[in-house]
Amino acid sequence: MKQIWNRYRSTVFQNCTDASQSSEELSYWRNYLFALTILYIAPLSFIAIIPGIYMAFITGLQFLFIANILTLLILPIIAFYPGLSLGVRKFIFFFGLYLASTALLYELGSFGPGLIFLLATTFFITLIYDEKKAIWSVYIITVICITFGVLIYFEATESIMLQEYRIDSWFALSANLIFLCLVAVLIVPGLFRGLQSSLQKRNQLQAEVLKNKEELEQSMIQLKEKALELQESNRELEQFAYTASHDLKEPLRMIRNFMDLLEKNYAPQLDDKAKKYIHFAADGAKRMNELIDDLLEYSRISRLYSEFETVDMNKLVDSVIGMFEAQIEEQNAVVGREQLPQVIGVPVSLKLVFQNLIGNALKYHDKNTAPRVEIKGEETETHWAFSVSDNGIGIDEKYFDEIFLLFKRLHSNSEYSGTGMGLAMCKKVVEQHGGEIWVTSEKGKGSTFYFTIKKDRQA
Ligand code: ADP
Repeated sequence: MKQIWNRYRSTVFQNCTDASQSSEELSYWRNYLFALTILYIAPLSFIAIIPGIYMAFITGLQFLFIANILTLLILPIIAFYPGLSLGVRKFIFFFGLYLASTALLYELGSFGPGLIFLLATTFFITLIYDEKKAIWSVYIITVICITFGVLIYFEATESIMLQEYRIDSWFALSANLIFLCLVAVLIVPGLFRGLQSSLQKRNQLQAEVLKNKEELEQSMIQLKEKALELQESNRELEQFAYTASHDLKEPLRMIRNFMDLLEKNYAPQLDDKAKKYIHFAADGAKRMNELIDDLLEYSRISRLYSEFETVDMNKLVDSVIGMFEAQIEEQNAVVGREQLPQVIGVPVSLKLVFQNLIGNALKYHDKNTAPRVEIKGEETETHWAFSVSDNGIGIDEKYFDEIFLLFKRLHSNSEYSGTGMGLAMCKKVVEQHGGEIWVTSEKGKGSTFYFTIKKDRQA
């Protein structure tokens, strides 16, 4: 049974819809409604046809018999007859409806369903056809009303109509009928227009969203590619820096050794000027050595120092303070720390950060005041946050960002020695730990360096 119904359904839909239309068009839904109507009306019409034929036999009304037989024929033709265009099927359906309702009105007057059928046909036409075609239903009703009016006026038939209506009452009924049809033709398409425009808007919006999504995906892919390229070139650069620095160390050692030998073995022959030059050359070589060491260390971050583990920051900071013991004593400095949290990080890298920050806090200092360095740390919801503050010379606000760049120094080597790599190293480590580093400072009063470490990493 279900199979038969499914076959019947697919045949009706095949014949009574337009496969080339997409469900986003309003006309698709109009045709869909037509197909649905035929689908149900064909079997359901038996409910009306069987008692109709029975009535025709009892009353001897020939036309009733013909109307029922016509309906019996027309509906299967619309539903099944192959090769008919959708327009023709619709035309046959509505032609049949008008014919049936007019005949019923003619033969049965208000006692039959003719008037209701006429009105229903008009409403139905407004659903199935667009505005321009639907207006024809008003013309048709008008023509029917006038024709009936003429027949009544001239008493030209034997129909029940003539017994039931006088011309003035028919005129009143016709006016109402035409009025209702006109209302339907004007109102229903308005509703459809609204639906159509909201459908279009929705489709437009969907298309835009889709386009944006595609663009976004495209840029994400490009971004990923660029990130990979960047990673690769960073890796190459680090490798290059490492190799270059490594290879530079050997000739540099030679220079330093021969300078030493020159100074030792030829000291008596050298005048003061020559000795001064040798001293400058040796000093330059020493500084270059420091630079290379720092560069090597910089290139090791992430590349070699990459093992994340649980680190007790109290122990780590204490060991760094220990490294500065002699300097602290010499400068009469006070370096203190609060209770610090445990973190997940790369110990060697983190040690480098504190080494540089504490080292700088002790170095960039007025000779006459004793350095006071304070190290603090706390846990936030997403990060561990640390700070190193001092009472040193301070930094001008305009350099707050620049000082973290590679080789950026604010002082000459004769004022404060250094390579300009310490803070760049700190930045690299902090970024390796998914955090940020920044400074606040007041010139002449001191500086505080802050940095964070992201918490969601596994040891
Ligand atoms: P270096 O110390 O080798 O010069 P850094 O990268 O560690 O290189 O520092 C960059 C610059 O930032 C320094 O030259 C210095 O001028 C400034 N600086 C860093 N730390 C401090 C500090 N605690 N107080 C004042 N200035 C600082």
